[in-house]
Amino acid sequence: MSKVMIHPATYADVRPAVERAFELFPLDLKGKKVLLKPNLLRGSRAEEGVVTHPAVLRAVVEKVETMGPAQIVVGDNPGLFGYGANEQCFQQTGLMEAAKGYYRNIGNDGRGMAFNPDFVPQVSISQAVLDADVVISLPKFKTHGLTVITGAIKNSYGMLPGAQKAMIHKAAGNPRRFQEAVVEVFRLRVPDLFIMDAVVGMEGNGPASPDLRDIGVIMAADNAVAMDAVMAHMMGCPPERLPFLQKAKALGLGDYDLAAIEIDGELRQIPNFKLPSLGGEAIASNATIQAFLHSKTVLRPKADPELCTGCGTCVAQCPAQALSIPEELPRVDADKCIVCFCCQEICPEKAITLQ
Ligand code: SF4
Ligand code: SF4
Repeated sequence: MSKVMIHPATYADVRPAVERAFELFPLDLKGKKVLLKPNLLRGSRAEEGVVTHPAVLRAVVEKVETMGPAQIVVGDNPGLFGYGANEQCFQQTGLMEAAKGYYRNIGNDGRGMAFNPDFVPQVSISQAVLDADVVISLPKFKTHGLTVITGAIKNSYGMLPGAQKAMIHKAAGNPRRFQEAVVEVFRLRVPDLFIMDAVVGMEGNGPASPDLRDIGVIMAADNAVAMDAVMAHMMGCPPERLPFLQKAKALGLGDYDLAAIEIDGELRQIPNFKLPSLGGEAIASNATIQAFLHSKTVLRPKADPELCTGCGTCVAQCPAQALSIPEELPRVDADKCIVCFCCQEICPEKAITLQ
């Protein structure tokens, strides 16, 4: 039986909840490489509620520091508005300061991996995710116009650098298939622990809605399906109606049945919580958003001859072997490129633009 912790907290006092999370879900971090992955959708102020609050990240960092890890890395790949601006997004949100020097740009080093060919044959996943012995996911309690809720499972979508997120959106074609693709990404590397910022949550048409709700809890679990089921229930959404939970259960990743989940704390439904439509129409039928997503998938990297030194770093780093230097400048094979934009992140001369 899975267990989900629901512990009262404020941003001024997150520590007791974090302590309790590690008591309930003990991890041996001694000598281990630990990756902490907040939800960094885009650059924004912490009080906008779009990203995991820095107070939560800081409390987890400080707890992990006491547990003797060999290495701590704090990193994420921002969403559609954050390409090439990983550091800036961390700075703007306050997550850089909260990371206490452990921040790393995980968007500049990816490894190509085979994916479900029903969507795309290959994706690139941040190398830092694959290198970590322990991954601790720090999702935010939010709604999402396409997946209805975005919590523990959807937070792993940020393991993909660059515009691959848009590419999979496009390949999926409809909200139901997109939800299935999200689970395919999640299972590339299932995190070991989930600590969710639900002190202030988001309702309405997330994941960047202005409608925030004071919820006043931190949640924790070692199973993402159970955590998302509890989150859905709190929002007034029957978990069994969410296609990504159906898919995750079918794949043996966990159970969304509340009768099979032990709650440590008080589970209550939030009255009159504003949910997006369960069919994902909020984003799927929005022509402007769809055009924007499409525009991201047709971008390709191009080196600026004024800045490029021909060092070859981008060629060596490309997980899809899509770059070569036939003469002086790197050139991209548009058919091979999987739009991860690791080349843009890694270029020491900032010579790569997206065209
Ligand atoms: S990493 Fe930058 S400077 Fe080096 S070859 Fe690539 S584009 Fe040019
Ligand atoms: S050329 Fe394409 S696949 Fe290769 S690193 Fe750049 S964006 Fe990624």
